[in-house]
Amino acid sequence: MAIQNDDSSNTIPYLFALAARLEGEGQYNNAKLARSAAEAISRRAAFNIKLPSGKSTLADELYKAIDVVSNFDVSSDLTDALKLGADAMVEGRLPLINESPHPYVCRTCGHVVLKEPSVNCPVCNVRPQTFKRFLPVYWLDALDPFNVLERLRQTPQDVAALMEGLTEEDMNQVPEDGGWNIRNAISHLRDAQGVMEFRINLMIDQDNPKLESKAVFEWAAREEDRPPTTEEIYKTYYDSRQKVLTKLESLPLRNWWRTGEHEEFGTLTIKQQASYFASHELTHFPQIESLINHFK
Ligand SMILES: [Zn+2]
Repeated sequence: MAIQNDDSSNTIPYLFALAARLEGEGQYNNAKLARSAAEAISRRAAFNIKLPSGKSTLADELYKAIDVVSNFDVSSDLTDALKLGADAMVEGRLPLINESPHPYVCRTCGHVVLKEPSVNCPVCNVRPQTFKRFLPVYWLDALDPFNVLERLRQTPQDVAALMEGLTEEDMNQVPEDGGWNIRNAISHLRDAQGVMEFRINLMIDQDNPKLESKAVFEWAAREEDRPPTTEEIYKTYYDSRQKVLTKLESLPLRNWWRTGEHEEFGTLTIKQQASYFASHELTHFPQIESLINHFK
């Protein structure tokens, strides 16, 4: 097959096919480079597509995507789940794990199943362990326990360094786009930290407890029960973080795999929850930095 110069729709399958062939020859490093090229080209093409935002518009886009995916005949279970997910969006809620199980894609032939595979691929007969699992967000698997502890220790210090020298008035100044101010962003970190502390304690104390889905993002601008100053909000964030760190530092390694049942994400381990929150914080740094640079 001839490779097309700049048509990603042909180039990407070509690179995956090449990677599979290279793996067949034991050329794993070359296969890795081909797979990373396929991912990079896909993401670059996606980066340049300007989609609208807003939940109702995106639900419409999702219905259109279902038709597109249907054309490829990869799995009716997947398109059925997409339909349930789009319907949930229209109803103004998040699809839960029973409607939206984790997909597993056969690395050889692309067959999709919506539960952990226990039998060989019905299309190409590879073993169930060769399927690739798709989790709701990469944060869940981004960090191992050692990196989690390092991150959870470091981030509050980085936040404090950013806040240094700012007045309460600076913290409360609403940016031109009308979005979060610095106080809202610090409140959000504090709220997420509170959820993490609660969940980790629960998962240590109980066997496989139920974990409720929380719309933490929507709490940031709420002012009920908030301390008066941003400095004090930061202090409650910091104190809660130290308590979690003390717990996690003494947790035997095997207990990082204790689980809870999250109504949106399914079974989660302490390791995944801690990785999630440690990674989540980092994604807010560009926003906090751009707000703070305004004053420095
Ligand atoms: Zn297969």
